[in-house]
Amino acid sequence: MKVLVINAGSSSLKYQLYDMTDESVLAKGLVERIGMDSSILNHKPTGKEEVTEVSEILEHTTAIRKVLEKLVDPEYGVLKSVEEIQAVGHRVVHGGEAFKSSALVTGEVKSEIRRLFDLAPLHNPPAIMGITAAEKNMPGVPQVVAFDTAFHQTMEEKVYLYPIPKVLYKKHHVRRYGAHGTSHDYVSKAAAEYLDRPIEDLKIITCHIGNGASLTAVKNGKSYDTSMGLTPLEGLMMGTRSGDLDPAVVTFVMNKEELSISEVNSMLNKHSGLLAISGSSSDMRDVTDGLAEGEPNATLAFEMYEYRLRKYIGSYAAAMDGVDVIVFTAGVGENSVVVREKVCENLTYLGVKIDPELNKVRSGDPRRISTPDSKVEVLVVPTNEELMIARDTHRIVLESK
Ligand code: AMP
Repeated sequence: MKVLVINAGSSSLKYQLYDMTDESVLAKGLVERIGMDSSILNHKPTGKEEVTEVSEILEHTTAIRKVLEKLVDPEYGVLKSVEEIQAVGHRVVHGGEAFKSSALVTGEVKSEIRRLFDLAPLHNPPAIMGITAAEKNMPGVPQVVAFDTAFHQTMEEKVYLYPIPKVLYKKHHVRRYGAHGTSHDYVSKAAAEYLDRPIEDLKIITCHIGNGASLTAVKNGKSYDTSMGLTPLEGLMMGTRSGDLDPAVVTFVMNKEELSISEVNSMLNKHSGLLAISGSSSDMRDVTDGLAEGEPNATLAFEMYEYRLRKYIGSYAAAMDGVDVIVFTAGVGENSVVVREKVCENLTYLGVKIDPELNKVRSGDPRRISTPDSKVEVLVVPTNEELMIARDTHRIVLESK
């Protein structure tokens, strides 16, 4: 079965076409600046030249039509006909409490995603645009939605509730939902597979640290706790997000600086984290370059980032009463030798020992960086959210037949 995976943003659309017989990627690409003049389509067919095209793409339906044209193009295409695509999988950020796993798209499923607009006002509306656009371009082709929150729906009430008046949960669904669930699910399963151990027997801490960052305590294959909350702001210090802080900081700063709700939201989500402390960049590469040069602001940003990450690892070891495996993934987790080194250097009380040489190895495959006598396996596992969505789509569509 050939499955097209779509990740629709408000002005962008990423895609990957999989052949599920061997899970190979036939083509992938990105449409940017949808709705603006001079939209850009970058198409990368496997084994062929990539192509970039600038044209006017006013909405997602046209974006998908252009992508399908490229997929069957005599020069850049990988398919004879669009009919070869037998299923479409969509990434959706928020599935609320309604979705505990990926689901086949129906009218009811779309209504439920719309009901969740309140909880993800920036992210769920584009997902609906992507679904509608795919329906228009590929009528009758089954579609599946995979949610960033679904993996975390196994969290217990004591973990997901905030200690605030319960009426807020009943009335407005205020609780912790988490994010990056598809990635945490994928890398925890890949880690168990790599170690050749049943996931049901493992306590795994998955560190998805990219521009956004979250940790998950995966106990017996299920999300037990995760660091993001009602929104992706909670938890770790990130590229531009603050992560945890005293909630009173918000009202205090709003009062002192006369900030509106949207201004304070923007400050905490877009102008905090590494960017705010380093004073120059949200990118861990720049921060670690600054650290190597002894630049004081970059050094402080790095130290705060590492300290907060390490505290979360400790708290999840406590939450699960132990940890067997720590997994690093996403942009920083997969690439930053120094972040992994510094975090692990300070986890001696858990019996963590990493091999500095293994830590430097670069590879696109899962790999171990801990020493044979380390009490905890430490792995680097490249994440692959698109493949996880393609697998779910393939399985659900086959089951529905
Ligand atoms: P992601 O959100 O998973 O795409 O991760 C993006 C982030 O990964 C970037 O903002 C960088 O901070 C980080 N990153 C990518 N490559 C490296 C690297 N070689 N060293 C440190 N950080 C990196």
